[in-house]
Amino acid sequence: MSRRQFVPLTLVCIAFIVAVPSAPVSLSAQTSQALPNVVVLATGGTIAGAAATDVQAGYTSGQVGVEQLIAAVPQAKKLATLRGEQISNIGSQDMNDDVWLKLAARVNALAAMPDVAGIVITHGTDTIEETAYFLNLVVKTKKPVVLTAAMRPATALSADGPLNFYNAVAVAADKEAAGRGVLVVINDWIHGASSLTKTSTTAVQTFLSPLSGLIGTVAYGKTEFNRGPIGRHTADSEFSLQGVTALPRVDIIMAYENMDGALIDAAVAAGAKGLVIAGVGNGNLTQSAVAALAAQAKRGIVCVRASRVTVGRVERNVELDDDKLGFVASLDKNPQKSRVLLRLALLKGSNFADVQRAFSEY
Ligand code: ASP
Repeated sequence: MSRRQFVPLTLVCIAFIVAVPSAPVSLSAQTSQALPNVVVLATGGTIAGAAATDVQAGYTSGQVGVEQLIAAVPQAKKLATLRGEQISNIGSQDMNDDVWLKLAARVNALAAMPDVAGIVITHGTDTIEETAYFLNLVVKTKKPVVLTAAMRPATALSADGPLNFYNAVAVAADKEAAGRGVLVVINDWIHGASSLTKTSTTAVQTFLSPLSGLIGTVAYGKTEFNRGPIGRHTADSEFSLQGVTALPRVDIIMAYENMDGALIDAAVAAGAKGLVIAGVGNGNLTQSAVAALAAQAKRGIVCVRASRVTVGRVERNVELDDDKLGFVASLDKNPQKSRVLLRLALLKGSNFADVQRAFSEY
């Protein structure tokens, strides 16, 4: 069966409407004059995805436009006055620098408007942790910026998008969310951009913040905040996209048994200014790969050791002498977040000690 079959709007709306319960009494009691303005920026993903039937695995991301997304969750209009903008409509596996730069510029512009209380960004789950962390480092605001997503398309039986969207609007409209950095709201949990990671390819409960825990929870729009964000962020970040039209290339290379230096050298030959190794264990790699990496570090390529293991930190100078080899340790950042931070750090310079400082501060 074709994955691009036409799906009627009514099916999409019914799936959303059926899945979302009514707002709690305390929230629905708010008058429309008192409602904060929240802007929804849609980028695509499964939350905007559609399948031909409600019980099939195959579907296409990015089929539903922002107006449909908002209209399909009328309960959210009791939490905030909503308006939407379509930034892109892609599966987040196709996320790219053009969309990132456009999205960051739009968030900065909207956040500077006095009448905007918060921003919700709808996104695919595949790369949401990278986009969230990127925005966490480059948007200059204390206002809530909240990403949300779904594991099941809008047309699915038990679609998770509608309630995730509702909860994201509740968080974006909540003054308590301000100053906590960019947040990701999914499956009743509020994650910090620097801590969350996707852990299951298909399960609805896929996102965890394994090292530092949740920023808070949200149940049918009722928020509870437990902690602030970890690391410098948003208004306090030294990174800026002012005048930036392109980001430096950084590649991620996974380590494995019998690894040689071929991919390391190939990445640099392809134009990488920095490399992130998704190392085995505590950021380790074979001796021949270490030799290739050290040679690139000597030539000025910034080399970060992260880990292919989902949980845990990568510390400096454990089994490898980072001081001598000129490597950076990723500390609490996984490979994909290390790549985001390294790209921004490289805009400021390629001294490995400065980059290591950024890894310990952000
Ligand atoms: N491939 C989809 C995306 O990232 C998956 C999802 O959104 O859950 O856009």
